[in-house]
Amino acid sequence: MFTALLLEESGKHTQASLQRLNEHQLTTGDVLVKVDYSTLNYKDALAITGKGRIVRQWPMVPGIDYAGTVLASDHPDYRIGDEVLLTGWGVGEQYWGGLAEKASAKGDWLIPLPPGMNAKRAMAIGTAGFTAMLSLMALEHAGITPSQGPVLVTGATGGVGSVAVRLLAGAGFEVHAATGRPEHGDWLTSLGAAAIIPRAELDAEPAPLESQRWAGAVDTVGGRTLAKILSQTRMDGAVAACGLAGGVALNTTVMPFILRGVQLLGINSVYMPKEKRIGAWQRLQESLPVDFEDQAQVLTLEQSIEAARDLLAGKLRGRVVIQP
Ligand code: NDP
Repeated sequence: MFTALLLEESGKHTQASLQRLNEHQLTTGDVLVKVDYSTLNYKDALAITGKGRIVRQWPMVPGIDYAGTVLASDHPDYRIGDEVLLTGWGVGEQYWGGLAEKASAKGDWLIPLPPGMNAKRAMAIGTAGFTAMLSLMALEHAGITPSQGPVLVTGATGGVGSVAVRLLAGAGFEVHAATGRPEHGDWLTSLGAAAIIPRAELDAEPAPLESQRWAGAVDTVGGRTLAKILSQTRMDGAVAACGLAGGVALNTTVMPFILRGVQLLGINSVYMPKEKRIGAWQRLQESLPVDFEDQAQVLTLEQSIEAARDLLAGKLRGRVVIQP
C-alpha cells in the first residue's frame, strides 16, 4: 500500500483527498518508482482545484513531475536503486502522477538524474525550471545574444518566470522582470533582474508597432500581454511563448513579423524528446546556484491541496517542492 493525493470527479467539481492505494493499481509503465520529491506547477494547481480541464482520466493522481528511486524495473535502461526524473508526457493528466509515495512510469519517459543533482534539486527546478531553460535555449537558437539589448520575463515571481530571470541573468542578459507584485521587486533583483516592470504596463491594448524595447522575451502570461510584447520587440528579436497565466487569446497583427522580422517561438516542455531533455537538465544543473533547492518551500502531500489554491491566487513565490 502507499499514500497518494487522489482526485475524484464529483458532479462538476474535483474532490482532492489523501488515500491509501494498492501498488497493483499502478499500471502505467514498466518501472516502479519510489517518489522522493514531487512539485507543484501551474498545471498541477489547475488539476487539484478543478479550475482547469487538465485531468483526462478519473480518478487521477496529480503531479506532472517527480524524482525518485527505482524499486522495480522491466525496462532495459533502469535497475533497482537508479535515481530517475520524470516531467511531462501526460503524467498527472492522463496517467497517474507524482503526488504520491510511489508511481509507475514508462521507462522511455524517464531520464537519469543528471550527475550531481539530487531529487530535491530536480523538483525545485521541475517542469517550471525546465521550461525556463527551454525558453532560454530557444532564444539562443533564434540568435538572440546579450549584446542585442534587454530581455523581458513576464510572470516573473512565478515558477517559470523566476527561474527564467536567474538563467537569463546568468547567461549575461540584461533582464527586465515584469510582475504584478512589486513587493517582490528586491527578490527579483537578487535573482538577477536589472529592472522591474509593472505588470499593468504590458497588460494593455497594443498598437500594431510600438517603440522597440526588447531583444527577446520569455512570456508566461499570453493574451494581451503577449500581443503587447510582440509590438515592442526589437528588429530581429524573438519571443518565447510558454504560458497562459493571463489568457489564451492572441490578438495581434502581422506587423512585428513582416516589418521587424520578430520570431514567435512556441515552447512545449511536455513531449520534448529524450536527448534534448538530458541536455537541458545537464545545463540546469550547471547553471543554477548550488543552494538553489534550499530556496524552495517544502510541503507535504496534504499541504499541496491548500498550496494549489494559493498558487492560483498568486500568493506563492518561486518554487514549491512536495515531499510525499
Ligand atoms: P506560477 O503560478 O508559478 O506563475 C505564474 C505567474 O504569472 C504568477 O506568479 C504571476 O506573476 C503571473 N500571473 C498570474 N496571473 C496573472 C494574470 N492574470 N495576468 C498576468 N500575470 C499573471 O505558474 P508557473 O510559473 O508554473 O507557470 C506559468 C505559465 O507557464 C502557466 O500558464 C503554465 O501553464 C505555463 N507553463 C507552460 C509550460 C510549457 O511547456 N509550455 C510548462 C510549464 C508551465 P507576477 O505576480 O510576478 O506577475
